[in-house]
Amino acid sequence: MSAPLSSLLALRSSLFAPRSLHPHFPHMPVLVVGSVALDSVETPFGKADNVLGGSGTFFSASASHLTPVQLVGVVGNDYPLDQLQPLAARGVDLAGVEQADGPSFRWRGRYRHDLNSAETLETHLGVFSHFAPKIPAQFRDAPFVFLANIDPRLQLGVLEQVERPKLVACDTMNFWIESRRPELLQLFGKVDMVLLNDGEARQLTEKSNLVHAARWLLERGPKYVIIKKGEHGAFLFSRDSVFFAPAYPLESVFDPTGAGDSFAGGFIGYLARTGDLSEANMRRAVVYGSAMGSFAVEQFSIGRLLELSREDIDRRVREFRQLVSFETELAEAGA
Ligand code: AMP
Repeated sequence: MSAPLSSLLALRSSLFAPRSLHPHFPHMPVLVVGSVALDSVETPFGKADNVLGGSGTFFSASASHLTPVQLVGVVGNDYPLDQLQPLAARGVDLAGVEQADGPSFRWRGRYRHDLNSAETLETHLGVFSHFAPKIPAQFRDAPFVFLANIDPRLQLGVLEQVERPKLVACDTMNFWIESRRPELLQLFGKVDMVLLNDGEARQLTEKSNLVHAARWLLERGPKYVIIKKGEHGAFLFSRDSVFFAPAYPLESVFDPTGAGDSFAGGFIGYLARTGDLSEANMRRAVVYGSAMGSFAVEQFSIGRLLELSREDIDRRVREFRQLVSFETELAEAGA
C-alpha cells in the first residue's frame, strides 16, 4: 500500500511562490526519478547517520536553484517526512513521491583519503525493490527528464509514461552496471544523454581510455556523454566535439556524497532554465553543474545546497570563468 505525501503537498503549496530570477528565460520544469534515501556516511572528517540522501534528493536540491523540479520516488514508513520539507519549500513538487509500507532505501558508504571514490558498505533497496514509478498526469509532459541513479528497469518504465520530452538524460552506478547491464544498454538506446563518472565509464565499456569509452557509449545511442572525474573536472563528449571543465579547487571537501547528482542538477537545471540545447549552452551548463557539485561536497547530506543563495552560485560561476580564462600569443608565434 502506498500513498502520496499529501501533508507535504499542502505545505508545498503554502510555501512555494514561483521565483522569476531571469524573466526572459523559460524556466522549464525538470522531472527527476531517482532514489530518496537515508544515507550513513563516513569520511576522514566525520560521520553522519541516517541523513537525507539519494540521487533524486541531491538532484532536486541542486536543480531547484535554477528551475522548477518534479520529483518521483518512494520512501518507507520509517522516513522522517518532515526532513523533505525544505525541498518542498524550495519549490520541489513532491506529488510523485509515494510512501509505501516497508523500510526506506538505505545506503552506507565510506570515503578514505581518496575522496574521489566511494566504497559502498551496504545497500538496502527496501521499498525500492517493489517500486514501479507512476508519473503523475501533470508531470508527463515535462520537457526535461532526468533518470537519476536507480534500477534501470524503473528508468525504462518512466520512458513509457512521458510525452516527447526535449531532452532525456540518465545516470547509473557500479551497483547497476554489475546487476543490470542488458537493461542499461537498452536504456542508452533511448536517451539523449548519459552521465557517468570515470570509474563507471571504464567498468561499463571495459575501455581504460576515456575518449574510447565515450565513443563506445555514443555508438549505443546517446547524442551526448558526460564523464565526471571528481576533483579533476568533467568532459562533455558529442560525436564531433569535446569540452572539458575543471572542478572548482576547493580547499576543504567534507563529504563527496551527492556530488554527481548535484552536478546533474546544475547541468540539466541550467538547460531547462534557459531552454537552449545549443552546444555553446551545453558548455555553460557543464560549468553550472561543476559549480553545484562543488557546493554539495562542503557539508554532509544536502545541507549546503539548501542554504545557498543565488549570489553564491553566480559568484562561483564567475570564479570558474577566471579559472579557465587565459591569453594566447599563438597567432603572433605563428606569424
Ligand atoms: P553520488 O552523486 O554518485 O555521490 O550519489 C550519492 C547518492 O546515491 C547517495 O545519496 C545514495 O543514497 C545514492 N545511492 C547509492 N547507491 C545507490 C543505488 N544502488 N541506487 C540508487 N541510488 C543509490
